[in-house]
Amino acid sequence: MKESAIYVHIPFCDHKCIYCDFYSIVTKDNISNYLGAITKEIINYAKEFSDGQVYKSIFFGGGTPSLMEPDYLKDIINCIKNYYTVSDDAEITIETNPGTVDKNKLLEFIKSGFNRISIGVQSFIDEELKFLTRIHDKDLAINTIENAASVGFENINLDLIFNLPGQSVKNWMYNLETAVKLPVKHISAYSLILEQGTILNKMVLDGRTTLQDSDYDAEIYNITMEFLNRNGFIQYEVSNYAKPGYECRHNKAYWQYKDYLSFGTSAHSFVNGKRWWNYSSLKKYIHNINNLGKAVANFEILTQEQMLNEYVMLALRSDGLNMIKLEEKFGNGWLNSAMSTLKMLERKGLLIIQKDLIRLTQKGYSLCDKILEKIL
Ligand code: SF4
Repeated sequence: MKESAIYVHIPFCDHKCIYCDFYSIVTKDNISNYLGAITKEIINYAKEFSDGQVYKSIFFGGGTPSLMEPDYLKDIINCIKNYYTVSDDAEITIETNPGTVDKNKLLEFIKSGFNRISIGVQSFIDEELKFLTRIHDKDLAINTIENAASVGFENINLDLIFNLPGQSVKNWMYNLETAVKLPVKHISAYSLILEQGTILNKMVLDGRTTLQDSDYDAEIYNITMEFLNRNGFIQYEVSNYAKPGYECRHNKAYWQYKDYLSFGTSAHSFVNGKRWWNYSSLKKYIHNINNLGKAVANFEILTQEQMLNEYVMLALRSDGLNMIKLEEKFGNGWLNSAMSTLKMLERKGLLIIQKDLIRLTQKGYSLCDKILEKIL
């Protein structure tokens, strides 16, 4: 059976954060219509994608899935399990924001079938949280993590953002030190990215805030890699660190170029080299699902070259490029032509070529984009 993953997009949020460019909607209208449409979409796709596939992970992302009533999400999980082969040990994750859940709701999520929780903490410093326009403070963030652990979530991720305007190394270290003392198994640490169309972008353009430069960003990134690895969180992707055995199975499916189905607004699916994506408009999505059973806005069929590039990029950004698997999939043409550059990068300490595996070093992770530009 082919291993695959399922993603479910819940676009609702209770406000828009200044840095966010995800598709999210600040309204409670249409929630039950939307969740009903997702169920229909799941059932419709089962006709094509239930045979020969075993689904090893389900990920509810957003938006803010934790704003939903647990029973609604339980119905969606049960629907997936009824129509697809989901492995008994499947990783089932819910993205959660502090301030949207109490202990009871967290317990209900466990009863609904979730066994992994990803908590959008972003910072443990109240001033930074205010700047990011998050609805929680430090105490609420810590409480949410402790509550999640106490109701039985063993596999907890927290998200952090570094290099905020004016953030000192001392403040960032405080965030990291607080994180590793908590009962978490996985940390995602991202640099603040200025995305077009966000409120933050307008603030920068208007001169109301200034981002720190890329050298400072690189310094903070290096500190992060060293600190987390030293504290038992092993880096397995540019921005992701986990205690051994707690790497996110769902994200690894993307990075290992496995197939995945995605449901909901703006959701992207990828199966056998074809990628398609849904309408992002909530109304259009619901209308199309109810009338046509699908809400595909567009699709692309990737060429061998595009797939090879994506495969190499995703593997190198994460835990390495397996040369045998690469050859099985794409032949040895690219490897032969890139080998002298790869060896040169190895001499510079940016990657290691070990037996069948090519993987980036810490120095390589920090120059990942430049390395990929050079070899692809
Ligand atoms: S809660 Fe998350 S998805 Fe929603 S607006 Fe904020 S950053 Fe975006």
